[in-house]
Amino acid sequence: MQLQCVTLANGVAMPQIGLGVYKVAAGDVCFGAVQAALRLGYRHIDTAAYYNNEADVGEAVRQSGIARSELFVTSKVWNCDHGFDKTLYAFDASMQKLQLDYLDLYLIHWPKDDNIGTWRAMERLLSEGRVRAIGVSNFKEHHIDELMQGATVAPMVNQVELHPLLQQPALRAYCKAHGIVVEAWSPLMRGRVFEWPLFAELGQKYGRTPAQIVLRWLVQSDIVVIPKSVHAARMQENADIFSFRLREEDMLTIAALDRGMRTGTDPDNVPF
Ligand code: NAD
Repeated sequence: MQLQCVTLANGVAMPQIGLGVYKVAAGDVCFGAVQAALRLGYRHIDTAAYYNNEADVGEAVRQSGIARSELFVTSKVWNCDHGFDKTLYAFDASMQKLQLDYLDLYLIHWPKDDNIGTWRAMERLLSEGRVRAIGVSNFKEHHIDELMQGATVAPMVNQVELHPLLQQPALRAYCKAHGIVVEAWSPLMRGRVFEWPLFAELGQKYGRTPAQIVLRWLVQSDIVVIPKSVHAARMQENADIFSFRLREEDMLTIAALDRGMRTGTDPDNVPF
């Protein structure tokens, strides 16, 4: 499997594709999925305290025999753990489950009331070397502006819902201007993106699957992707996107599909 990395603001290399494990059942299913992904050549796993499967991710990573320095593991602090002290406790709880010495990326899962207190804890973890990079998730421009008022270190990553039907051009331009890498969650729109025939048409043209066209469009736009699957064949398909390029005219045709259509929660109105 061919891998490609992006470089974060502090020089850390982040593999541009990872396996997402949201709604992957804890236990054998999650352990098996991560094990399969690592065997196929994935080196990046995206979990969260909220997903309740950090223990399985950690176990699969530890048992893989792959050097820890070759792997990139992300987790996230959940909404009820915002604030300086609670975030430090939540991080310890995540590491207790993961049983790893450090995390590669720790994210604030959603913007809530005490983003700055939470962020100060993230900065502390970074300065102590317990995480290699820190970032946010589901932050709009105004959330980042507000965070920066009390921050010493700028977020290195913003993980947001992003796919051809929700392209977020303004947020992407903002992140680019501030040196923040954009990471797409639900890059396949949770499977709904295939309802648009364009991806099958382009798939025919390039001899690729619709999923590969969508994921290629994202990585060719400098976005990190974390498609979820528990099936090895799909994982392999999803990762095989670095050996071809979409022509500019096709990049533009996909860009024209943007409808600002969310499948998930609007970060300005988080009810959980
Ligand atoms: P996704 O867009 O990755 O879609 C996953 C679904 O697409 C699968 O369940 C499967 O049905 C289908 N699929 C996968 N590969 C396919 C293929 N090759 N062909 C056909 N169908 C295929 O959706 P997601 O799981 O919501 O998002 C991916 C990851 O993003 C999550 O697992 C999680 O790690 C992360 N995420 C983060 C947040 C956040 O708030 N930060 C929110 C949601 C998801």
